[in-house]
Amino acid sequence: MIPFINTVFLEILLLIVCYLGDTLLQHPVVKQQFVVALTDSLTHGIVGGISWAIVCDLKFKKQECLECILCLVLAMLVDTDHFLSARSFSLKAALSLPARPPFHATTLVILVDITLVIVAAILKSQNLILGAMIFTTAWVSHHVRDGHRRGLWFYPFGETAAIPKPLYLGIILAFPLLMKILHLFFDKQRLKDKTIILSGAQLV
Ligand SMILES: [Zn+2]
Repeated sequence: MIPFINTVFLEILLLIVCYLGDTLLQHPVVKQQFVVALTDSLTHGIVGGISWAIVCDLKFKKQECLECILCLVLAMLVDTDHFLSARSFSLKAALSLPARPPFHATTLVILVDITLVIVAAILKSQNLILGAMIFTTAWVSHHVRDGHRRGLWFYPFGETAAIPKPLYLGIILAFPLLMKILHLFFDKQRLKDKTIILSGAQLV
């Protein structure tokens, strides 16, 4: 029962953060480019962090907290491509690019995930699978939030129309639940592998 209450609480928190972040961006108080960029970036980060808290069912264990922080940082990291593409630390240059910068291509998330899963399978690395899940949660949440304003970008195929607000919020709330199911499956698998290794060790 408690994990269910936790999830509901975190989902409501997620909705509040999205609402506050989006409202603040349109508020006349937030005029300066720097404040706009910082507010948006922080909202992306917090959305990523809470999303992972839902996925891992956060009980404030050290490992879970570190994963949430990693997801928060990764969600914020997407926007560094503005500066990389502008080859400048100037916010003005970063925000006046002629085209969308590369980390905003959703096809990149798919490619990175396929690569990580293949490498994880070869190396039999469960940490890589976990990393791929944290990365996906962080970047998809960022892309969907941005998609509300500009649509999703599937380079080189093109981009979708801007995602309507109810749909964008629906995806933001539903995606961590989907990843949670994957995470539970992954945890079960990990436990099974551990049991096999332990029983193997006992046999020896
Ligand atoms: Zn962005």
